[in-house]
Amino acid sequence: RARIGILAMQGDVREHARVLEELGADVVLVRRAVELAAVDGLVLPGGESTAIDRLSRAFGMREPIREAIAGGLPVYGTCAGLILLADRMIDGAPGQQTFGGLDVTVRRNAFGGQAESFETALDVPALGAPPVHAVFIRAPLVIEAGMARPLAALPGGGVVAVEQGALLGTAFHPEATGETRFHRRFLAKVASRRAGRPRRYG
Ligand code: GLN
Repeated sequence: RARIGILAMQGDVREHARVLEELGADVVLVRRAVELAAVDGLVLPGGESTAIDRLSRAFGMREPIREAIAGGLPVYGTCAGLILLADRMIDGAPGQQTFGGLDVTVRRNAFGGQAESFETALDVPALGAPPVHAVFIRAPLVIEAGMARPLAALPGGGVVAVEQGALLGTAFHPEATGETRFHRRFLAKVASRRAGRPRRYG
């Protein structure tokens, strides 16, 4: 069984734990470097990226996470987690940092405030049918995808899911709707890394 860590500083940790356990993974809540060192993959949950960033630095977790990402650890970030995976961020709070790893630029709160949260049926060609029921809550948008591969865009334009090597990010919350295909895709990256198969980058 794969050991999957969820960064448990703030955010919808329990929702991710439920999906991952349903898919047969052993879930570990990660708050310390020693816990991070023992996982096969890491989830960065949705929540508030400023709080997750601040707490991660307070817990001395920023550098260990950056090193793990640089070392090829599969990481899946949803919403705030996608922001934290982005190399570049627009409309961050003063002093806010990201871990980076995905060669993308994200705009925080790209749709406005809480009132601008919405749900939509999202076509994700890499996942096939049916469309994903995507919930956006004060969501970011990928405004430049760089070397990352866009997996989904809103009908009006605007990339909301990307993948780059072992990294996966969605601006919405599959963990909140019973959608398991993104987590399965992430677990496939974990399995392929564990099997020591050649990793694909880009
Ligand atoms: N707006 C939040 C942030 O900037 C993200 C919201 C979410 O994760 N649902 O971190």
